[in-house]
Amino acid sequence: MAPRALSAFRSCENAAIYREDDTMHARTLVSITLTLSAAFQSAGAIAGPAYLIHAGTLLAVPGEAPKARQSIVVRDGRIAEVRDGFIDPRDIGDVEVVNLADRFVLPGLIDAHVHLLVEQGPEYKLNLVAKSDADRAFDGALFARRTLEAGFTTVRDVASTGQATFALRDAIAAGHVPGPRMLAAGNALWATGHLSGFRPDVLALFDTTTDCDGADDCRRAVRAQVGRGADVIKLHATGAVLNEVDSWLEQQLTDEELQAIMETAHALGRRTAAHAHGVKGINAALRAGVDSIEHGSFLDDSSIALFKTHGAYLVPTLMATEALTARSAANASLSPIEREKAAAVGRAMQDAAARAREAGVKIAFGSDSGVTPHGDNAREFELLVAAGMTPMEAIRAATVSCADLLGLADQIGTLEPGKAADLIATAGNPLEDVGALRDVGFVMRAGVIYKDLFHPLDRSR
Ligand SMILES: [Zn+2]
Repeated sequence: MAPRALSAFRSCENAAIYREDDTMHARTLVSITLTLSAAFQSAGAIAGPAYLIHAGTLLAVPGEAPKARQSIVVRDGRIAEVRDGFIDPRDIGDVEVVNLADRFVLPGLIDAHVHLLVEQGPEYKLNLVAKSDADRAFDGALFARRTLEAGFTTVRDVASTGQATFALRDAIAAGHVPGPRMLAAGNALWATGHLSGFRPDVLALFDTTTDCDGADDCRRAVRAQVGRGADVIKLHATGAVLNEVDSWLEQQLTDEELQAIMETAHALGRRTAAHAHGVKGINAALRAGVDSIEHGSFLDDSSIALFKTHGAYLVPTLMATEALTARSAANASLSPIEREKAAAVGRAMQDAAARAREAGVKIAFGSDSGVTPHGDNAREFELLVAAGMTPMEAIRAATVSCADLLGLADQIGTLEPGKAADLIATAGNPLEDVGALRDVGFVMRAGVIYKDLFHPLDRSR
């Protein structure tokens, strides 16, 4: 086991979860972990008590029909068993009962596209130069808690500069900070020249370690990011909406550069996520073997064919488009070029998501939170439904599909024996009104209750 993988394992809550590169070890380790739990506790990990949860309605596997009156037994941070009916706690020994008998229970939500250390507002641009890595770490701790309390128990952070994102990931895993389980990209890979909006001497302050030109340089950048602690490699196949100089509809990294990035990342056991708006960049990244296209605003039929050939995911991020369109209309904090781009992407992205879904492209849930306030992530469900998904499809995108995209399908995404005890509950039925997910009343991650509005007097949490 590699040193980083070992440290990730050590910091897990009673082996409640492993990162992607640990999964091959997970099966053999599970058998010894229970006996090691005391050691993990002394290392600062969390160990919740055993729970018996009575679920009024349980959607254990999104995509399959929910069941009424189910019992879930949680031990050592994992689902021990799921049984029909409300079983008597005296039948199974020392457990604490959680009464969700009149609630809707489902797996913890997963968001494959967040930026957990930033939140854009009027001072966004100033903050890019005013905030230190340490400031961002503390901001990230606040945003992580809000995200978890909104019912998102796992997130993939697809880019934030510096080391703070990895420190936050590790602090959450160690139980020092409440937050969702994180996979983190750290710095994204870009072609040189993408930075804009500041004087050149101010731009010189920005970290350009992962700007890369030429295949060899892009290999170096991937390796550097993995060395810094990246779980996933984020790259920019086209320019961005929030940028005054780059070409967001053309291809930004060359075919050779994209190929080198995918090969190197995959050889190091890391998946890749490509930011891409224009069709040339989308298709080039897909041909190079990218694992997910983020945004995908101007995809066309040729892109849809490539998605299906390569089995790649689309992560639409409709919330970001909605927010940027609103900000553009309000003429707030966007330059004229950025406003023009925001208006164009607003029209395109929802249509792209609808066409991709119709054609059977695999879609994973991503909110791009950070562009919007953290904790509002579930708004994306309503936009996915507006784009043609059923509520069940949207929930599946944020559970089963995200778990698959993140390489954690054997750990999270459904409530089945052996998986992490990541579960949430709502008062309303989200299969009837997906907006019910904006009001999550109960959150458990890895067997620890982080939020319980349904029993405010019973619990001191
Ligand atoms: Zn983003």
